[in-house]
Amino acid sequence: MTIQEQILNAIQRFDTIIIHRHKRPDPDAVGSQMGLAEILKTSFPAKKIYTVGKQYASFEWLGVTDEIDDDVYQDALVIVVDTANQPRVDDDRYLNGKMLIKIDHHPNDDQFGDLMWVDELASSTSELIGDFCFQLKEQLLMTSNAARLLYAGIVGDTGRFKYPATTPKTFAITAKLTEYDFDASAINQHEDEINLPLAHLAAYTYDNLVINDNGAAHLILTNAALEPFNLGDESTSSIVPLPGNLKEVTSWAILVEQKEGDYRIRLRSKGPAINELAKQYGGGGHPLASGAVLSDEKEIPEFLANLDKVVDKYHATR
Ligand code: AMP
Repeated sequence: MTIQEQILNAIQRFDTIIIHRHKRPDPDAVGSQMGLAEILKTSFPAKKIYTVGKQYASFEWLGVTDEIDDDVYQDALVIVVDTANQPRVDDDRYLNGKMLIKIDHHPNDDQFGDLMWVDELASSTSELIGDFCFQLKEQLLMTSNAARLLYAGIVGDTGRFKYPATTPKTFAITAKLTEYDFDASAINQHEDEINLPLAHLAAYTYDNLVINDNGAAHLILTNAALEPFNLGDESTSSIVPLPGNLKEVTSWAILVEQKEGDYRIRLRSKGPAINELAKQYGGGGHPLASGAVLSDEKEIPEFLANLDKVVDKYHATR
C-alpha cells in the first residue's frame, strides 16, 4: 500500500478527525488544513471533521477553526499538516488522539506520528493534499472551495510560482485545481494586497536594509521601530520577501523583536542554503526559507557574522 492509501485507510476507520497546523500560520498551513477538511467533509458526510488552532482575522477568508472540547480527542484520528517540528504544532492536544498522522513538505528533522507522509520536494503541503485527492479520486472528492483553499496555499508557499521549489508537478496539480469554479486571480490579488501602514513598513524595509558587499543583508525591527506603524508582529510577514527583489541581495535575515525582548529571525535566500545556520540557533526550515529565535540581542552580531560567512562560502565555491 502506498502511504497515501495508508492515510486514506486510517481516515476511513475513524469517525472523528481533527486537523492541526502550525503556529503563526501562513496561507499554506491554513489552505492545506481547511482544504483537507473540506475534502473529507464532502467525501465522508457522516464523519465529524474539525480544524483547530488560533484563529487570525487575516485568515478568515480561508475559513474559521473549530473550538472543541478535550474529550473529542478520545477516539479521534489527528492529522497535523505543514508542521515540521512538534513545538510548532498549534494546540498541544495533537497527542491526545488515538492515532497521529503527519503530512508535510519541510525537511523531516522531527519524525513524529504513527504515519508520516513527508515530501521535501513538494512546493507546499497544499500541493500534497491536492495530489492526495486527485490520486485517490474514487474515494476523495475535490470541491470548488477545496480547490480554492489549496490554490491559495500553493501560490502562498511558492511566492506566486517564483521559488525554486515550484516543479512541473506543482503546475500540473495547480492546473487541475483551476479547472474548478473559483476566482484564482482574486486569490493572487488578495495575497498581494497590503494596506497603507504595511506600504510604509515596506518603504522602511528598503530604507533600512543593511546590505554587505557579498549580498548578505539584514533588517532589525525593534519594538520601538515598529510602534509608529501600529501593526501586529504577524503583519511583518508581508515584508519578508522584499529584500529578495533587490539584485544586490543574495541571502537575508529579518530580525523582529518580540514583546519579551527575544528576536524572531526570518531567514531567506536566493542561493546558499541557510537552514543549517537556522539550526545552529535552535530553528530550522527549508534550504531557502528558514527561521530561528535569538533569546538575547547580544547574539545578533555573531548571528549576522555567521550569515555573512555562509554567503561568502557560497560565492567562493561558484
Ligand atoms: P517563517 O519565516 O516563520 O515564515 O518560517 C520559514 C520557515 O522556517 C517555516 O516554513 C518553518 O519551517 C521554518 N521555521 C521558522 N521558524 C522556525 C523555528 N523557530 N524552528 C524551526 N523551524 C522554523
